[in-house]
Amino acid sequence: MAAIGTVSHELGHVAADYAVGGSAVLHYASATPVGIPDGDFYRGITVAGGPLQTVLTGSLGLLALWWLPRTEMPPKKWLAVLAAAFWSREPFNMLAGFAFYARTGHSPTRGDEYRLATMLDLNPWALQIPLGLLGIAACTLILFWIPKDWRLPLIVGGTAANVFGFAMWMGVLGPALLP
Ligand SMILES: [Zn+2]
Repeated sequence: MAAIGTVSHELGHVAADYAVGGSAVLHYASATPVGIPDGDFYRGITVAGGPLQTVLTGSLGLLALWWLPRTEMPPKKWLAVLAAAFWSREPFNMLAGFAFYARTGHSPTRGDEYRLATMLDLNPWALQIPLGLLGIAACTLILFWIPKDWRLPLIVGGTAANVFGFAMWMGVLGPALLP
């Protein structure tokens, strides 16, 4: 899941790179734009591509969850839960940003949401905080839209799987499979 989330996020950047007439090299935890036209506008689009992909996938998953019966948990509904859980990127990045600020006293400069806000001449937090709050709302909706018995297992299992998956992808599998 962490691998799918990360790679598809990066593919969002890659798609945006191609959309503005450039190309890209996909790495396991990033994508390097190649031959992007000069200027903040094009750079902004390539930065926005990743979060846009993540948030759109998450919203499609939520839409499917809203539409599927709430009191059952058939196997196909797990797909919708996985897609909707893409929204968890935003609260995670918001908390990571808070932790960075607490440690250094500076607003984060890395991370798509912070970079994009800075490019738009906004406060660095102007996108991350609203998106983080929306992400919290989205994750809460996921829990409401699955049967009660599944809530605790999803929180515990989902968190553990993500931490383990993230570590596996960033530490072992990712570097082995992609440059
Ligand atoms: Zn990104």
